[in-house]
Amino acid sequence: MVLLEEGPAASRFRPNQAHTARYHMQEGGGMVATGNGLLPIAAGRGVGGGTLINSALSFRAPETVLDSWAAALQDEDWSAAAIAPLYDEISTLIGVRRMWESVAGRNNQLIAAGAAQLGLPGGLAPRNTPGCMGCGECNFGCPIHGKASTNLTLLPIAWQHGARIQADTRAVEVLVEGGRAAGVRGLAHHPDTGEFVGEVRVRAPKVVLAAGAIGTPRLLWHQGLARSLGPVGDGLHVHPGNAVLGLHDDEIYLWNGATQGAYFTHPDLPGVLPHAFTAPPEACLAAIGAVGRDLADGLAKLPHLCGCVVMVSDHGTGRVRATRDGRASLRYNFEDADLERTKRGMVETARVLFTAGVRQVIGIVHDIGWHNSVESFEAALSDRAVDDFTLYAAHPMSTCRMGLDPDTSVVDASGQTHRLPGLFVCDASVFPTSLGVNPQLTIMAGGTRLGQRIAQAG
Ligand SMILES: Cc1cc2nc3c(=O)[nH]c(=O)nc-3n(C[C@H](O)[C@H](O)[C@H](O)COP(=O)(O)OP(=O)(O)OC[C@H]3O[C@@H](n4cnc5c(N)ncnc54)[C@H](O)[C@@H]3O)c2cc1C
Repeated sequence: MVLLEEGPAASRFRPNQAHTARYHMQEGGGMVATGNGLLPIAAGRGVGGGTLINSALSFRAPETVLDSWAAALQDEDWSAAAIAPLYDEISTLIGVRRMWESVAGRNNQLIAAGAAQLGLPGGLAPRNTPGCMGCGECNFGCPIHGKASTNLTLLPIAWQHGARIQADTRAVEVLVEGGRAAGVRGLAHHPDTGEFVGEVRVRAPKVVLAAGAIGTPRLLWHQGLARSLGPVGDGLHVHPGNAVLGLHDDEIYLWNGATQGAYFTHPDLPGVLPHAFTAPPEACLAAIGAVGRDLADGLAKLPHLCGCVVMVSDHGTGRVRATRDGRASLRYNFEDADLERTKRGMVETARVLFTAGVRQVIGIVHDIGWHNSVESFEAALSDRAVDDFTLYAAHPMSTCRMGLDPDTSVVDASGQTHRLPGLFVCDASVFPTSLGVNPQLTIMAGGTRLGQRIAQAG
């Protein structure tokens, strides 16, 4: 088995912001979907993919979601009960455990405490960071290898079983012979300069695309194979989100502690998942609009800020295509119902923060200002339109869906494309619906299910 990866090898990893954006984020961190709002979409790059730079939250999908997939696929192996042992296995391999108090940090503790006082489910979150020291830098790559990203966990297992990894090599073509996928052509480049250094051809009886829910359809559209395979690139979901920041009398230093280490849910808001976030000080200043004349005021507030993302399982959809030079061309339309649930999630998040002792809250919403009560914040949000919200997403999925019908899906329940034998997809593209929780654990558990079937396929 040979694995081609566009990004650099893990040994070239340098955990700092500029290096991460340039080398470890797809398209330099510059992917933006246009539509009825502007939506930046982040995805990781390198041996380890998104897990190199993700926040390590490790949630299991709601049982209702997996059971709905099993029903649509008429395949009980995708039910919550059947996937549970795979979640167990993966969780053990990547060291998932609930964040512990000593390194969680004030921001996470505050959100967990506010939710607990209101009797809401949640608390400190499950994460795959067995060696976490709480430096808050997961998104630039763990500087101490305390996060069990796949370059340290699953890929070494593949290596032990004979897989070979070719980094700095972009797959550009699925080779097709006699109506079957027969291999892949890739272009190798210099890891620093990006200069072309040679062509790689891998011949294989089974070809698995695992370039992520943007990368997989981007490759197929750029090659010109997409149209023959069904609705490739359609139905993009992303879990869009906004955030609420609070101002506390105590010093919180929200960039210290576990990057995203606390969460809560609300019984009236299924599919809405507020969870803590960490951001560097300069990003916090931008989030509260502390620029120009407001900078001095912002700097005074900075140590006292706490923050919580509000993410929704989206009904809105988009699509992935490729530009002539092989970059992603993305569209995404936010649905009114998602915006409404985002607002309601932000209001409940404000309630949690006030309960935890903050004096004021603000959303990342154009000119919304600080608010002293939940009621005032709710009123200020009520008439805001989608383009008032600074949106962000890092969970692209569903662009080569699993399904039974070749007209409405791209792959079957084994990950094999309906229309090209020997070509499989094994990444977040295959999710039949939006998931509702941060997806890495489900990608790994679902990938294990697909892997079992790909191994058996003829
Ligand atoms: C900043 C950030 C924070 C996140 N936090 C969390 C979190 O806390 N918990 C969670 O569950 N999820 C989180 N996620 C999401 C999660 O990391 C991703 O959903 C997951 O990694 C996607 O897995 P995947 O296998 O679909 O694709 P990816 O992990 O994106 O892997 C695709 C790989 O394919 C490579 N590639 C793309 N095109 C080509 C090509 N043509 N040729 C060769 N290689 C190619 C890419 O470089 C990449 O390495 C976060 C994501 C980001 C960006």
